[in-house]
Amino acid sequence: MRFTRLRLNGFKSFVDPTDLIIHEGLTGVVGPNGCGKSNLLEALRWVMGENRPTAMRGGGMEDVIFAGTATRSARNFAEVALVIDNEERLAPAGFNEADTVEIVRRITRDAGSAYKANTKEVRARDIQMLFADASTGAHSPALVRQGQIAELINAKPKSRRRILEEAAGISGLYQRRHEAELRLTATETNLARVDDVLEALA
Ligand code: ATP
Repeated sequence: MRFTRLRLNGFKSFVDPTDLIIHEGLTGVVGPNGCGKSNLLEALRWVMGENRPTAMRGGGMEDVIFAGTATRSARNFAEVALVIDNEERLAPAGFNEADTVEIVRRITRDAGSAYKANTKEVRARDIQMLFADASTGAHSPALVRQGQIAELINAKPKSRRRILEEAAGISGLYQRRHEAELRLTATETNLARVDDVLEALA
């Protein structure tokens, strides 16, 4: 899965629309402290479905919206778009009609987040699954936060295993299994209720 473009608008320190073309090969981002290098990685993680405010270095999800400075007022929304090269048609069904897939996530104050894939509204889960199945996504071990190496060294074996599973691209399967288990429990509860009704009628 090759990312070719990242667009930001009102996301953290990127108050003005910013369009970054990602060329093939290695990309380096350099700049003075506090210029927004980490915010770029956070934008990537966020558009891929990150929903843990702690992972976004903020108190709540709306903290990704430009909060204003002495000279500029705060914004009401933040938007990040990620363009993925799909010339080889490797994207899963539902995302696979065009040569590129553009994922857009937008958050509006007091209204929450919404996602689009090639202009069609999609669910957060669809986006998370799209990236999880491609061994990438908000929790991908390819995205290394500051302090994460030390966390990894001190991590318990169970957490380390999760990182390996994400690298192997099977974390999406765990999510699907969890959802299947929830459906199974709901069905068992319904069956028990049907038995009660049948018993009452007998
Ligand atoms: P360093 O090299 O020190 O880690 P960096 O280039 O990675 O710096 P970031 O951490 O990406 O910089 O950017 C931090 C800047 O983003 C800070 O100036 C902070 O005030 C600003 N910032 C973060 N969230 C918001 C927000 N919601 N609204 C406005 N500015 C924000």
